[in-house]
Amino acid sequence: MPQSRIRLFGPDRQMVGIPEIEWSVWILGMDDIHEQESLAHALQFAAEHNAMFADNRLHYDTRHTLHAVVLHHGFAWTQATEHALGVDCGHSDCGACGFGRSTSKAAS
Ligand SMILES: [Zn+2]
Repeated sequence: MPQSRIRLFGPDRQMVGIPEIEWSVWILGMDDIHEQESLAHALQFAAEHNAMFADNRLHYDTRHTLHAVVLHHGFAWTQATEHALGVDCGHSDCGACGFGRSTSKAAS
């Protein structure tokens, strides 16, 4: 599929990663998937890579810009997207999801 057709968000969003891998980072432009231990690791990995990509763009003015995108079970992750879908966002400090985690623990 041409990359310009890919939708990361919304009702017709597409999976760009691997569904069996809970947390990963997708490098758009290289089409690499990097498996991560947790959301915290994925966020740090993505932030560091995006900073390097920004630095490359500033210094080399490349047209081939790379982007690091955090994936949750193969779909692009944002906290707001996960909440809109009614899914645990995975953030350890999220009050709303933390409440859900404590009630599901209490129920089991
Ligand atoms: Zn949350």
